[in-house]
Formats: sequence, C-alpha cells, structure tokens
Amino acid sequence: MSDEQTFESFGLSEPVRRAVAEVGYASPTLVQQATFQTIAEGKDVIVQSRTGSGKTAAFALPLIDRVIKPARHVQVMVLCPTRELALQVAGEFERLGKFNDVGVAPIYGGAGMQQQIDMLKAGAKVVVGTPGRMLDHLRRKTLDVSNLRAIVLDEGDEMLSMGFAEELNAILGLLPKGRQALIFSATMPDAMSRMAARHQREPVTIALSSDHVAPDGIVHHAYFSASGGSVPDLLKVLEIEKPKAALVFCNTKAETEMVARGLQNAGYRAEYLNGDLAQNDRERVMGLLREERVDFLVATDVAARGIDVPHLSHVIHCGFPESPEAYVHRSGRTGRAGRTGTAISLIGPHDIGNLYLLRLTYGIRPIERTLPSAAENRTRIEAARVDSLVAAAGKVSDDAMVLAKRLLTHDDAERAVAWLVERFVMGVREDDVMPPVPQPRVSAPAPAPVEAEAKSEARANGRPPRERAPRRERTEAVEPERKIEVRHADPKISDETPGEEVGMEGLELAVGRREGVRAGEVARLLRDVGGLAKSDVGRIHVRDRVTLVSVRAELIDELLEALADVKYNDAPVSARRSDVAEAPEPAAAQEPAAAPEPAAVVAAD
Ligand code: ADP
Ligand code: MG
Repeated sequence: MSDEQTFESFGLSEPVRRAVAEVGYASPTLVQQATFQTIAEGKDVIVQSRTGSGKTAAFALPLIDRVIKPARHVQVMVLCPTRELALQVAGEFERLGKFNDVGVAPIYGGAGMQQQIDMLKAGAKVVVGTPGRMLDHLRRKTLDVSNLRAIVLDEGDEMLSMGFAEELNAILGLLPKGRQALIFSATMPDAMSRMAARHQREPVTIALSSDHVAPDGIVHHAYFSASGGSVPDLLKVLEIEKPKAALVFCNTKAETEMVARGLQNAGYRAEYLNGDLAQNDRERVMGLLREERVDFLVATDVAARGIDVPHLSHVIHCGFPESPEAYVHRSGRTGRAGRTGTAISLIGPHDIGNLYLLRLTYGIRPIERTLPSAAENRTRIEAARVDSLVAAAGKVSDDAMVLAKRLLTHDDAERAVAWLVERFVMGVREDDVMPPVPQPRVSAPAPAPVEAEAKSEARANGRPPRERAPRRERTEAVEPERKIEVRHADPKISDETPGEEVGMEGLELAVGRREGVRAGEVARLLRDVGGLAKSDVGRIHVRDRVTLVSVRAELIDELLEALADVKYNDAPVSARRSDVAEAPEPAAAQEPAAAPEPAAVVAAD
C-alpha cells in the first residue's frame, strides 16, 4: 500500500478521523486514495480494485464525511448480493460513522420485517441490504427514498448481472433522478459497463488493476484427480496443505452439506453455509467462522463475494467454479488487506476448460500439483509406522538383543519379523507406540455430556476447548518402559461394518445426525465417559437416527453400564448391542488417508 496520501490529506472531519483511528486504519489503501475526492465531489464512479483492497471504506468514508447531511432521512442505499455481505458492510458503515450519528439499517431477507421498519423509523440515514427485501420495503412504502443522495452497488458486476437485473431495475426506477451512483467490484466484465451506462451519468472509471484482478499475496495451486472434488481427495489435500482456516467452495448446496459432514467425520471443525439454511443458522455459522470456532466453512457462492474474514489462510475450490469471476471472488476471501493466502483447486477432467478460461481471462495459472496415489500414500504411512516403532522402542535386555541379532541372520528372518509385527505391533495400543507429534488442528467441540466441563476448561485456559481428533490424537509423551499390551488382531485394519471387525462387537446408540452427532464426538464420549482407549474403538458410522460403533467385545458390558444415563444434546444415548445389519458407507469417506497416522491406514485407499 502506498503512503502517498494520508487520511489527513483527505481533509476528513474530526468525527470521521476519530472513527478511522479507532478502527485502526493508519493510512488509506490505494483504492481509497484513488476514489475519495471524486466521490466526495458527488460524481458517479465505476471502481475496479482487487479483492481485499479496502473498497468498502473507499465508498463509506467519502459518503459519511461529505455526502450524508445531518437531516434524519435515508440518504445512502448500498445494495449487496448476499445477506452476509450486507451485514458486514452495514458494520463497516457503523464503525466509520460511529461519531457521525449516521444510523445504519441492514435490510435483508430472512430477518424480521418489523425490526427493520423500526430502524428506518428511528431515522437511519444509510440502508444496506439485498435487492429483494429492499424492493419489498420500497413497495410497501416502509422505506422512503425521496431524499436519497447516493446508491452504491457493491460487487457491481454481480448486482448488474442477469440474476439481479429485474429487482435492480425496479429499485433504480424508484430512486430520485439526481442521486449519485457508485459501482464497485474487483471484476468488471465488458458487458457490465454497457449495463452501468443505463444507470449512471458520465461515470468516472477508476480501474486499479483490471488486467490483474487477484491480489499478489495469493498463490494458486491446482490438484488434478480423476474425480475432481471428492471428499477423500479434499482430505488428502488438507493433509498436504494443512490450512489453518479455510473457506471451502462447492458448486451445489447438497455438496456443501456432504463435504462438511465428511470433514466433521474426519475430525475437523467444519460447518456449511448455503442459501437453504435458516437465517439464524447462516448468521451462526458465519459467527463461528469469524470467532475461529470452526476452521472450515463449506459454502456455495453465497460466500464468494465480499466476505471479509481476515484470518482465512486458504480458499479451497472443492468444486471448480464455472466462471473466472467466481474464481477470483472466491479466492479473494483469503490474502486480504495485503496478507498472504493460498487458493487451492481440485480439478477433475471436466474442469480443464474452465481452468483454461481463467488463464485466458485473468492470466491466473495455478501451480499444478498431484495428489499422492494410493500406493504413495501407503508408502508414506508405512514409513511413518516404521519411524514411530523405532522411536518408541525402549530399553531391551541383552538376551533379547542377542536373540534379535540371531533372528536377523536367519534365512526366514523377514517372515518371522512380519509375524512379530502382526502379532505384537499392529495389535498394540497406539498410546504405547506413537511418538509425540504436533497436535493437528482438528476435531469438534466436546460431546454434550462433557460440554460444561470443556467450557470451563476453555475459560480457565483462555482458549477454546481441547481440540482432539478421535482418529488422530497422539499421546503427549512416549513411555518406552511401559508394558506393551499384546492383542491378537488389529480392529482398525478392516473395513467391515461396526462390530464385524475381529474381536470387536457392535454397539448402537439411539442418536444420530438428527441429534447433531459427529463421529469425532462419539469417540471422545466413549473415551471420556466410557473410559475406553482409542484402540478399543473401531469404526463409527453416524446415521440419521442411530450411530453404530464397534468396540472391544470384552469392554461392552462395562460400557453399556457407563452409558446408561448419558444424554447427547439432551437425547438419551440408550446404548445397546447391535446386530450390524447395515452396509458400511464408502470406507474412504470415513477413514481419511491421514498419514502419518497408522490408525487411518488401509481402508483409506
Ligand atoms: P474489498 O471490498 O476491496 O474486498 P474490504 O473493504 O472488505 O475489501 O476490506 C478488506 C480488509 O481491509 C478489511 O478487513 C478492512 O477492515 C481492511 N481495511 C480497509 N481499509 C483499510 C486501511 N486503510 N488500512 C488497513 N486496513 C484496511
Ligand atoms: Mg467488498
């Protein structure tokens, strides 16, 4: 960001200067510098500037400082393509207009009409909203725009697109003639200026980077696979890229839910967002993302435009977008305000054409990467197992050493070692053989029965509840002297239905997806309440109304007792033995290839 101009050089009034300082903006961004005077003079503008470059304040500041007058009526209308963006932009107006008494009314669908009417009656000078609800208020005459001085089309190209054209034309037709019209976006396709011409008077075009619309701080990666954006592929990518927090985009609403469940089942803190969610859920999941209480939000393009969540390190195009504009805007949810970020695409054979179009239109050429093949994955996992075994080996007696040396010189040494491995290593408690490794950033909140405790723990530590993944957790330290427990089968190395694994028995819990059950939380519940070790628990299948779990057969009676009065989100768990009739879900969806995690082995491939 250049510091050619300062906020002082804008000649801001004292209250706005104070608000800017309070928000923490030290100097204006390029787009703010380039547009302030023109907007302050009352001219119409079309402004193109990269994602995350500070366009909101670029229109909010001059409007608050120069255009909005003290009289209490609606003077500025901002239209946004989504409710989430409308709320966010309303927030920026509130912050920057804090000492100007601007009064901002967010006007969007799914929220109470009366509450919005009250805000308008209370004398809001700025209305920020989505076209449908805005038009609703205009037609009902609950919104009086006879004194409107300026209209802003944030994400202008999207607002002028065919999808919004009808409502937008209706709204513009109801506004006073003399109003100023401001159009902002990172992308301005050619067709847009023709449409804009109908709504603006001699607009000044301010294009800051039309040939290079994506911020330089974003690196673009593309993973090719035959299936494109499948959940197992996504899980592999997460293992490789290890995003801190990401928006994951899908092309359909159904996919967002499915992918979010896949991530949850693999132990990640994930939620989904699409236009079918109830408004309070939309706000809830956005809140969880902003507060860093979920790490992955799986969304449709409802989150593609304008959303500003500064800590997102990654954007993942799980389904590749059809238009280059969508790619630019989705990717622009990371790398904001000069930060760095990574945009990752999962590319299937059908996406190649769109990938080419992206390069042609915006010169974006993602770095090609390949997903590890099943064989490569297995090799990595084997290497990790060997490392962890060697690392965990403690002191041995001289006698054992002598025997080992003799064994290794024997012609049949390999088979004998393999037998030992199968008997004593594969069946061993992971707690005993795993070296400490950094805790992956995964997993869901504590299960319902221990929630209170987890919360108080969080309060005490000043951080979120302990994050642990059922299938990925590690011991804090290796205890080589500890006796290794011998088992005669490895329940994890199988992809049977719960209960069919050797030495395991099926358990059915009377709660499932409908009660918000997640595999990760069930594993934790069994550990915390049932006192089970990780190796005592096999497969977990969360179904709509029930959850099937396999646990070590000899522990089942004790466990049934421990679970007798346990509730999960207020629903009795009512655990009972199951007779495992249902077919397993595709193994890969439940058992991610989580190298170097021996527990997640074979079934992943
Ligand atoms: P855009 O609309 O261009 O995508 P936003 O208006 O959402 O970008 O702003 C992106 C981020 O930059 C926001 O987090 C915002 O608070 C921050 N920002 C805006 N102006 C400034 C500034 N002058 N200095 C520092 N940060 C800024
Ligand atoms: Mg914006």
